[in-house]
Amino acid sequence: MKIADKNISAEKMVREALDKAKKYSGYNIFTFLNEENAIKKAREIDEKIARGEEVGRLAGVPYALKDNFLSPDGQTTASAHILEGFVSPVTATAVKKLEDEGAIMIGRTNMDAFAHGSSTENSYYGPTSNAHDCERVAGGSSGGSAVAVALGIVEFATGTDTGGSIRQPASFNGVYGLKPTYGTISRYGVVAMASSTDCIGFFTKTPDDMDLLMEVTSGQDPKDMTTLPDYYNNTKGMPTEGAKIGVIKDFDNNSVHPGIRKALAQKVELLKSKGHEIVELTMPVLKYALAAYYIIVPAEIASNLSRYDGVRYGFRAKGSEDLDALYKNTRSEGFMPENKRRIMIGNFVLSSGFYDAYFLKAAKARTLIVQEYEKAFERCDYILSPVTPNPAFKLGEKTDDPVDMYLGDIMTVPLNLAGIPGLTVPAGKTESGLAIGLQLVGPRRSDKNLIRFSKELQDE
Ligand code: GLN
Repeated sequence: MKIADKNISAEKMVREALDKAKKYSGYNIFTFLNEENAIKKAREIDEKIARGEEVGRLAGVPYALKDNFLSPDGQTTASAHILEGFVSPVTATAVKKLEDEGAIMIGRTNMDAFAHGSSTENSYYGPTSNAHDCERVAGGSSGGSAVAVALGIVEFATGTDTGGSIRQPASFNGVYGLKPTYGTISRYGVVAMASSTDCIGFFTKTPDDMDLLMEVTSGQDPKDMTTLPDYYNNTKGMPTEGAKIGVIKDFDNNSVHPGIRKALAQKVELLKSKGHEIVELTMPVLKYALAAYYIIVPAEIASNLSRYDGVRYGFRAKGSEDLDALYKNTRSEGFMPENKRRIMIGNFVLSSGFYDAYFLKAAKARTLIVQEYEKAFERCDYILSPVTPNPAFKLGEKTDDPVDMYLGDIMTVPLNLAGIPGLTVPAGKTESGLAIGLQLVGPRRSDKNLIRFSKELQDE
């Protein structure tokens, strides 16, 4: 990662990043540009360097922040109307750790409102375009962050992944995107979607940059009871030679785009040529993951979104004569249709008459998915699979068909239900020039080795 030194000043790097952000404004990547503050912070770093003082490991590195991370710089809206005008009094732990090392946030990135979506089309601020084809989606929900890195505006960007929101846009735009093991990075100060599957992670251009960001941000946080003790910085490196790589037979079928199947086959050959062993896996339980996910996650969404009532945060609807009307009008006007759909589904599956039939069943399926991966990792070290069945689709192509949109998440959501890490690794392009990514999956707490092993997928 480009770290500020005496040759490249932090101010110059930040100004360049801001200029690029403006040059690419047509992609609708940013919901806010942090111009004044970013330049001020960069100057402070340059002054420190000039005085010979020590600076952090990310000193002067410009980065982009997904709009659901709380920080006092600009409004935190999660790209939702209902949070418009909300300036956070607190800073997310992940943001604090990055900035303590000198990273400089140049802007907040566009996303599906409250991270509900797979295309960044559900944003109050309109969709973001794909880095390789303006008429196609950026992917989502962290679409803005993925495109900001893919176009070289910033060195890295933050994301959240509840069911694929880092891995899928990383794949659609040709960059690295990591969803760590659940509990690796504190969720404190990040707008909650589904608390049992939400993960904080990053977009980068290289595995080494990803590793550095993980070193900086992972670890236990007293403000997030679900964080794990710091295993990341205490991981013993596994030898990268002679690994066993699982390939899931169930995913290798005609519903996967031929370009993606070809890329997977090529990488399998590459791994074999480097002395790794390929293990065929059948994982029939994974076909229930999508249904389980779209029951469990909306249930948690319905609970987490109940706090937005027009009283405490952001937007409040005008002309409401009593408290009930205030809630109703604010929520009706403030949420996007996809947010409302999930609140409805969530409350339905949790309701007393349907809890056993839906939520409880989904929770049981989740346990089976966890066990299915445990069994698989007895036979292999990592699993290699597509990230999505198809590359980036056209803007508007799926907006009228939410179920079709959900179906694209089939290969990413099982990891969130199981709490295991997954890294999107760029794997070339389709014949028509769209980015392809493959997903490298490991057991819980294998994140560091997973990142190291991903270098084996690079062509020499
Ligand atoms: N596309 C998935 C969904 O819509 C994942 C979203 C996410 O990871 N935030 O739920």
